[in-house]
Amino acid sequence: MEQRDRVERGEWQEAAAEAGAAATAAQRDAVAPAAGSEGPGVLDFPPMPAEPEVEAVPLTITGVQLFWLRMPLVAPFETSYGRVDRRECLLVRLEARHPEAGVVEGWGEVVADADPGYSYETTGTAWHVLTEFILPALPGRTFATPGQWRAACEWVRGHPMAKAGVEMALLDARSRARGVPLWQEYGGYPARRRIPVGVSVGIQPSLDALLATVERFLEQGYRRIKIKIKPGYEVEPVRALRQRFGSIPLMVDANAAYTLADAGRLRVLDDYGLMMIEQPLHEDDLLDHAALQRQLATPVCLDESVKHVHGAREALALGSGRIVNIKQGRVGGPIDARRIHDLCRRYGIPVWCGGMLETGVGRAHNIALTTLPGFTLPGDTSGSDRYYHEDVIDPAVRVGPDGTVEVPQEPGLGYRVVPERVEKYTLRHRSWHAS
Ligand SMILES: [Mg+2]
Repeated sequence: MEQRDRVERGEWQEAAAEAGAAATAAQRDAVAPAAGSEGPGVLDFPPMPAEPEVEAVPLTITGVQLFWLRMPLVAPFETSYGRVDRRECLLVRLEARHPEAGVVEGWGEVVADADPGYSYETTGTAWHVLTEFILPALPGRTFATPGQWRAACEWVRGHPMAKAGVEMALLDARSRARGVPLWQEYGGYPARRRIPVGVSVGIQPSLDALLATVERFLEQGYRRIKIKIKPGYEVEPVRALRQRFGSIPLMVDANAAYTLADAGRLRVLDDYGLMMIEQPLHEDDLLDHAALQRQLATPVCLDESVKHVHGAREALALGSGRIVNIKQGRVGGPIDARRIHDLCRRYGIPVWCGGMLETGVGRAHNIALTTLPGFTLPGDTSGSDRYYHEDVIDPAVRVGPDGTVEVPQEPGLGYRVVPERVEKYTLRHRSWHAS
């Protein structure tokens, strides 16, 4: 059965198992023995995925605004690297002129955290790079394709989340100028009118608290439960969840908290039928991930390790995991997110869309990204109310009782950004205009 069919039927466990087997076979085929050699084999390097071909939509940037927001979370969120009770992010708003459509706006989100626990980028570094080097140069420039914008910012090394915020805003503006829904800008799959979503549960103060939290999310209809783990807090919570809730679609995320020396402890998790173990080891250690994957039946999923399309190729060549979590901020924007999706799809590696506690702006972009056909596993795009009492968009993102979110069909984000709410949570603001 097609993986997508299984997913549509809600057979997550089967879909994940099939995905794992397909990925293993693809990786095995990629390592062909060198002719006449007794060595370990020569890698058939995955090709660099091409930039998607897109329609030319000439947009001349007339103004740029950058907002630094701080929003209280409905409850503290704890991972293996720390605990937060409020979310900081940057929002980018572009204003651009199109020859026929006139002036359109576009919104994007820089998903970096306030602190460098998830990645080296922070709201502060992104503010620095954007205000000093990228945004002042935009007013007056014309970009007909996202590729032209990418070429213009390519000289800035790294800082993928900062760049991604601008690229998202550009895609939003393009979709409004064309009068098409945002998912079309992402190259999505038209039949995907709703996307299945899961929820990410932070480390809880007790097992009872964990069970109560998971129960509440299951009642809300979420299609997959992911719990954050750290050394010493993995087997017990998983066992408790299996005992209480049976064979729910369940996965764990370590946020790079383990080393290869912990392989024995992680192997114990093989007994619990998890969909995947996300990012168990150091983000830069693709080799150790490959070694670990060979020792585990459970698919390893890469998150922090896949920082760009180059890293995705390396991970696939090495067999460092059988599933990839794609976050468009982490990989530099929607276009490279799509290229990594295309590459993974070619190799039978299922992908899903991770979350960075986004406001509604980033959430709307994640919904659009998730319409690509290779996103066969439920992502982290939960409802706005999972993190915020009041989102900056209207209406809020809502999860239906069947654990899916509707894909907006209006041009642009499909949600209205409410200026008063953006202002309410803004700590700093800067703008640039064409003279
Ligand atoms: Mg993760």
